Amino acid sequence: MKAAIYTFGCKQNYAESSSLARQLEEEGYTIVPFGEKADVVVINTCTVTETADRECHKIVRRALRHSPDAAIIVTGCYAQLQPDEIAQIEGVRMVVGNAEKHRLTQLLERAFTTEQPIIECNDDLRVGQLEFVPAVYSEHDSRTRAFLKLQDGCDYACAFCTIPHARGKSRSMAFDEIPVHVQRLANAGYREIVLTGINLGEYCAPTGQRLLDVLRLLVLLDTDCRFRLSSIEPNRMHPDIISFIADHPSVCPHFHLPLQSGSPEILRRMRRRYKRQLYAERVRMIKERIPHACIGADVLTGFPGESDHHFDETYSFIESLPISYLHVFTYSERERTDAVLYNSPVPFRVRKERTARLRRLGEMKQRSFYHQNIGTQRTVLVETYSMDVHGWVGYTENYCRVVLPAATEGTLLDVVVESFDGSLLHARGVAAHDDQPHYVALPVVA
Ligand code: SF4
Repeated sequence: MKAAIYTFGCKQNYAESSSLARQLEEEGYTIVPFGEKADVVVINTCTVTETADRECHKIVRRALRHSPDAAIIVTGCYAQLQPDEIAQIEGVRMVVGNAEKHRLTQLLERAFTTEQPIIECNDDLRVGQLEFVPAVYSEHDSRTRAFLKLQDGCDYACAFCTIPHARGKSRSMAFDEIPVHVQRLANAGYREIVLTGINLGEYCAPTGQRLLDVLRLLVLLDTDCRFRLSSIEPNRMHPDIISFIADHPSVCPHFHLPLQSGSPEILRRMRRRYKRQLYAERVRMIKERIPHACIGADVLTGFPGESDHHFDETYSFIESLPISYLHVFTYSERERTDAVLYNSPVPFRVRKERTARLRRLGEMKQRSFYHQNIGTQRTVLVETYSMDVHGWVGYTENYCRVVLPAATEGTLLDVVVESFDGSLLHARGVAAHDDQPHYVALPVVA
């Protein structure tokens, strides 16, 4: 029996698809790429935007073209929020909610015999406690960077967000399980582990440890890995975490702090848990302690009631801060959110224009940040050889994409950055003499 998986959305979803693939293999399935004929096709959905919902319909149709007799199973956040709508899509045999996702292989059998689509979905994930289900994921099957899910769900109530409905309450990996997972990944050859969560800053082990305790634990482990944090809410980016990262090079100086809006009024209406002064203070503190740190921000344009004045506040706030890159999203109305009931929707044309303006600002910021790295010494995790750029590519600790003339996949190399071509940094390995290889491998990151 063959199974294919198609994944939408965030790293968390990818990590969970990866675990699902492993479970299917344990049940005797061969995993084939999506697009090849399969007996089972699992579609792991996202629901952050309206587009993600629409894409799900398209993927079901594509799956049926390749595998007309396959059992099509739809899971993930869109499945959790709209199970009835999905069950009506022609060809879907089973809809599995987020709370049931980890036992999908046990539910699967019934999908082969059913006449009617089956819905396995807990109605309201915000009620009652959910189990934490660990998951890991690596990109492109390469053994360089792995994503380790430490936390799931969210207890916040941002007015635009469906995630608390789709993923339920915050829960975290047991503290003493963390070294087991990390050691296993390190033994498998991974050199970078990205810690992920839906609201990672809210990590709280059943025994009370928080995110800073996790970092303290990780740097004491005997591994050759470096560690990277995924997105952390600004109110959870405590100064002690910034100081700790400044003092420990094995935790990458890369901070992703969702901003969403730079207007005090809009932040309040979004029900974010920080004021823009706090955001600015955190960014400035990071840069004071770690001048080469990379700081990324998410921004949402076109939230209901966002006037030209509010947008200008956001634009000039971001312009004034040493932010290294932006992820800009356009607001879309989502069922089950409070914002969908708000007055004064922003016309779609205006939303799109604002998104385009902020994306241009983000590109300028990123180019400026890359420029600042020219002439500095960085450490690159070499990922793969790229025919497009005729060199080895990888990321520095401060999240710049670099191309190298010579390297070995999966190694951490000390490099000197020489130039920037508008999209990539060009670097060479640090070598004592010109006739030596143009790189040195770092056996251990201190
Ligand atoms: S912090 Fe806000 S935006 Fe992020 S997952 Fe929770 S509710 Fe959604």
